[in-house]
Parts: sequence; structure tokens; C-alpha cells
Amino acid sequence: MVSEVHNSAYKAGFVAVMGRPNVGKSTLINTLLEQKIAAVSPKPQTTRRRQLGILDLENSQIIFADTPGVHRPRHKLGECMNKEALLAFEQADLILFMGDASSLPQEEDQQLARIIAEIKLPLPVILALNKEDLVSIEVLEKRLIVYQDLLPGAVLLPISAIGRQSLDVLLDTIIAYLPEHPPFYEDQVTDLFERDIAADLIREAALEHLQDEVPHSIAVRIDEYNERGEHGAYIAGTMFVERESQKGIVIGQNGTMIKRIGATARQKIEVMNGRTVFLELRVKVRKNWRDDEETLRLFGFKK
Ligand code: GDP
Ligand code: MG
Repeated sequence: MVSEVHNSAYKAGFVAVMGRPNVGKSTLINTLLEQKIAAVSPKPQTTRRRQLGILDLENSQIIFADTPGVHRPRHKLGECMNKEALLAFEQADLILFMGDASSLPQEEDQQLARIIAEIKLPLPVILALNKEDLVSIEVLEKRLIVYQDLLPGAVLLPISAIGRQSLDVLLDTIIAYLPEHPPFYEDQVTDLFERDIAADLIREAALEHLQDEVPHSIAVRIDEYNERGEHGAYIAGTMFVERESQKGIVIGQNGTMIKRIGATARQKIEVMNGRTVFLELRVKVRKNWRDDEETLRLFGFKK
């Protein structure tokens, strides 16, 4: 059903958003989504689309994607998480790196800049230097030089997400780098992306309810994801653990734990999906799945 209405100049693509905590990533994306959706789109902005950061403009669709795993790698699985993060970059058309004009680059900025340098993909990088409203022009000019040194190849743009300064220039610059492509997301489409997020939310729910040791041994696979029109969505998922004893813990006495996990996960998915969700969860033992190449691949940690 994609796009007889869009002419050939329509552009769409993925923007990998990076930046240390507190530079203003959420503020920027929320501001862009609220402002632009209200201005140009007759469609209501559903919660799901908000979570995915999909920005529909008149002649383009920008999808702001988080870069999972870049910020906090974790023990053994950590290596694979980084590969997962790399995948996010492989799918991206450009990187939006955010810095904070009110401070000098910090260790975390430098780390992220190194990661970008190591990606070795010919990805354009836009360095949005946010919070320009907090500094004088003199200071801003100095900061621009220091931040440009951090990423010499990047297109540097001072902005203010809160003050809504230069956001149109930012969008124009992003669009300039996007390929001509029909929109990736239409309202009714259930896609792989959404399944991945549902799996993440189930894992997150398990983390919230279980003791330390078990959650790291849980992988989640979505077995079924069916949209049922007005009736919401039916989702079936399997949580894989490594040992029988863990299976017992995840199920809990008389199934109380798995019910709790399911209830929390369902709420989270409903927020993402914007409507009713029926969720069925099972637990299976898959011995040492973390060391098993094939299983890792199955769960999308390796390609
Ligand atoms: P994130 O961790 O990168 O997602 O950062 P947030 O979007 O949560 O923002 C962190 C803080 O910076 C919040 O208190 C925001 O209000 C503030 N902030 C974000 N953008 C700007 C800006 O352009 N100017 C100013 N002065 N503050 C901002
Ligand atoms: Mg944030």
C-alpha cells in the first residue's frame, strides 16, 4: 500500500541519534515531532509512532532511531550488543550526533566520537551543538571550533531544542542526506521493528520483576504478532532461559511470576502500540544460549 501519492522526489530514511545523557536528544525529538506533526500532518500522531520517532513531513519521512548498546556494553552479551548497535548504524542513512554548547566536550563525547570514527561506514554525520541559548556568541564560536575538532568530517550546526532555534535548518540538512525512497512506515503497518520493540519490552518487564541473576539469561522471541483491527493486537512470545531452575523462577509459584511479567509487559506494549494488546508468554529452556552462535543469530544478536 505504499505511496501512489508520493512523487519521485519523496525522501525517507533512518537517522541514528547519538549523544551523551542530558545533551537534549529527547527534547529535540519531541519538539520536532510535536511541532511538525501538528503543522503538516492530518493524521493523529499515535503513541507508537512517537516512540519510534517517525517524523512525517510533506515530502519526506525521517525516522529517528536510537542506537542501542552503544552506550552501555555488558559482559559477554556486551560484544553482541555492540554488533547490534553496529547494525543500527548499517541501517542508518546518517548520524545525528548531539553535543552541548554550554560545556566543553567530555570524556563520553570523546568516546562516542571514537565509535563513530571506528564505524568505517561512509555515513554522513551532523553534529548538532544544542543549547546555544545558554552561551554568548563569543563562547559559542569557541565551542564550535572545539566540537568540530572532535569530528572533523561532521557538518556542524548550533541549535536550541528548547528555543526552537535553527531546527528548520537542521531538518533541511538531514533531508538533504536522505535517499529518495517511499515512506517506510504507514499507519496500519505492523513491521519487524515493532516486533523487536515488543521483545525488548518483555525483557524489560522481566528485568523489573526478577532477581539479578536470571534476567541476563533471558532472551525473548516473538512467535506471533497479529493485528486484530479494532480488537487490538495478539502477541505470543517465548522467554528463553538457560537452566531448568531459572525456568521455575520465571514461572513462579502457581504461575504468579510469569503473570506479573506478562501484565507489566502488556502495559508497556500497549503504550507503544497505542491500543489493546493480548499477550501470551511461555518459558523454554535453551541451554547456554549465550554461548551458542546459532541461538544468538536466531535472537538477532548476530548477523
Ligand atoms: P537527553 O538525555 O539527551 O535525552 O536530554 P534531555 O532531552 O532529557 O534534556 C536534558 C536537559 O537539557 C533537560 O533539562 C532539558 O530541558 C534541557 N535542554 C534540552 N535542550 C535544551 C536547549 O536547547 N536549551 C536549554 N537551555 N536546555 C535544553
Ligand atoms: Mg533522553
